[in-house]
Amino acid sequence: MSLPDPLSRIRIVLVSTQHPGNIGASARAMLTMGLTELVLVKPDRFPHPQARATATHALDVVERARVVASLDEAVADCGWVVGLSARVRTLGDEPLRPWQAAERALAVAQEAPVAFVFGCERTGLLNEEIERCHATALIPANPQFSSLNLSQAVQIVAYELRRAAFPGQVEVASKKKHPWFAPPAAEDMERFYEHLERILLSTGFLDPANPRVLMRRLRTYFNRSAPDRNELNILRGILTSFERPKNRRIPLAPEDEGR
Ligand code: SAH
Repeated sequence: MSLPDPLSRIRIVLVSTQHPGNIGASARAMLTMGLTELVLVKPDRFPHPQARATATHALDVVERARVVASLDEAVADCGWVVGLSARVRTLGDEPLRPWQAAERALAVAQEAPVAFVFGCERTGLLNEEIERCHATALIPANPQFSSLNLSQAVQIVAYELRRAAFPGQVEVASKKKHPWFAPPAAEDMERFYEHLERILLSTGFLDPANPRVLMRRLRTYFNRSAPDRNELNILRGILTSFERPKNRRIPLAPEDEGR
């Protein structure tokens, strides 16, 4: 049996959205991060072809969006409701940072649904809407221009939720863990180090009378960069070109020597 998806009980609520394009773009932002539950409170125009157009592959999220008449209805069953606002209010607690809100949301979502609520493009969340929220969150931005496009604010929250839900993912996405990353065998690395040492002796860079820890340092350096097989072949090829320079070589001009 597979584990329940930690993001499945997190919903995005858009209040009084004016531009249908923002609804589709928000759906896309959600789906790229694995969120699928979208609730629209009194959208100005919906359904709308622009919402479908900007959703691209997230059309399903748009089509399954629930349209409701009030924020109360959108969050009725939620155990925690966070309002996203670009403005710091004088009343109420300090706004949370998106990553703090994401962590808390995932903890609560184990017990009950959680909602992230976004305001309308022109006014943002109204005071009476903020009052319906248990906490607010602010995306830290340029203080002189802190209002993000609605769907971009959704993207940032969705990204933080994914990061909190799957903390290992950022590494998994890195090149080194991809199936096509082919690590060279230890003996191939050894042959490379032998080759490198031979070349450095032949150029005089490595002094056999006084080798110090040069080779050990170079090992540390190459082990840290962890070349794959292809990259190791390139490095071997470079070393070979010192031993047997290619015909196409362009000799160094005298003024370049010693640079
Ligand atoms: N003109 C409005 C901003 C509307 S942007 C205002 O001045 O408040 C639409 C929605 O995107 C906002 O209601 C909020 O939910 C979200 N948003 C935009 N920028 C944000 C930020 N820096 N922090 C948190 N939410 C933000």
